[in-house]
Amino acid sequence: MIYLDNAASAPINPKALEAALPFLTANFANPSSPHGAGQSAALAIIEAREKCAAALGAAPDEIIFTSGGTESDNLAIFSALNRGGRRRMITTRIEHHAVLNAFREAERRGFEAVYLEPNADGLINAEQVAEAIDDCTALVSVMAANNEIGTIQPVGEIAEICKERGVLFHVDAVQAVGSLPIDMRILNADYLSVSAHKIGGIKGGGLLFARKGAPLSPMIFGGGQERGIRSGTENVAAITALGAAIEDITHDIEKRAVKIAELRDMLISRLSEIPHSRLNGSQTARLCGNVNFSFENIDGEALVQSLDLFGVCASAASACSSGKQTASHVLRAIGTPEKYALGSLRLTLSESNTRSEILKAAELVKDCVERLRNAL
Ligand code: PLP
Repeated sequence: MIYLDNAASAPINPKALEAALPFLTANFANPSSPHGAGQSAALAIIEAREKCAAALGAAPDEIIFTSGGTESDNLAIFSALNRGGRRRMITTRIEHHAVLNAFREAERRGFEAVYLEPNADGLINAEQVAEAIDDCTALVSVMAANNEIGTIQPVGEIAEICKERGVLFHVDAVQAVGSLPIDMRILNADYLSVSAHKIGGIKGGGLLFARKGAPLSPMIFGGGQERGIRSGTENVAAITALGAAIEDITHDIEKRAVKIAELRDMLISRLSEIPHSRLNGSQTARLCGNVNFSFENIDGEALVQSLDLFGVCASAASACSSGKQTASHVLRAIGTPEKYALGSLRLTLSESNTRSEILKAAELVKDCVERLRNAL
């Protein structure tokens, strides 16, 4: 198998598995229990929190463990909106549905939403945010990097504008962690979402960074775990795995990113040789592991299925709803023509991919595109 779907879920890091295993086997105790076994689970959570905080340049009490990116996004958004008073919120057209659908829900509850339009590369600029903010604005939410087209947003600049204007700022960093350096001592955001399974942790794990003093209001009520912000018995295995995974992936990040970017650029250059193809997203402000191409008059889902038959795991950025193919909201927002938007392919790389895998995958994409076109 050639696995090129790392943005959907990455392989489990062996160190993360090692950290999690004791809490799936011998030590199954509840971390709230006062006995030794419970307290050893509680200690493992403390250590994982310290690792997560260190990896993000945060303080341990700024880390709230959640069930993943979706919950972290929702917790940040509704915490900011529940502060009260201001009723306006700003995001972009190309956020993940974890943000977009939380915004839709907030609109149903009477909040007013502004959706910023990206340019053709999928970039939002800080001036757009500055112009959209008014005295009623409670929150701005902009992702650090896009999950489909890999575009990297200027969240540092946006954070400064939000701070100056007294507006809370949330960053969905689910796709950025491990690819871009993130230091909350430098990035002036109030909230930052992380998902474990994108960085070598376990599905169902994640965290929200919430800066000291940022409003927090729970969505789940119960036993008061996570300082009352996120009740429910802690997922000790997922938390310890996340601590190990984030520590490992943020170490030597630049070196790893350079290596992955070399493979990405090789893949982009090979796929560009396919007639009637185009790269979606920015050439330069792009995640090291993201390749997103469109092929004219090809069905992206059919292409993904053909590649699967040859052992290549990829994804199409188009969604099939009620039997009808629709272009992804991201490709539509950046103005990709329909005949290209329906034929998109996302290949996302990790450091475990090799040069020969990438060359083989490029050849297979070329062959599959040609076959599908000949079958028309
Ligand atoms: N935000 C972004 C940018 C993502 O790519 C994803 C997952 O694909 C999520 C949020 C949701 O994360 P999770 O799967 O952990 O709920």
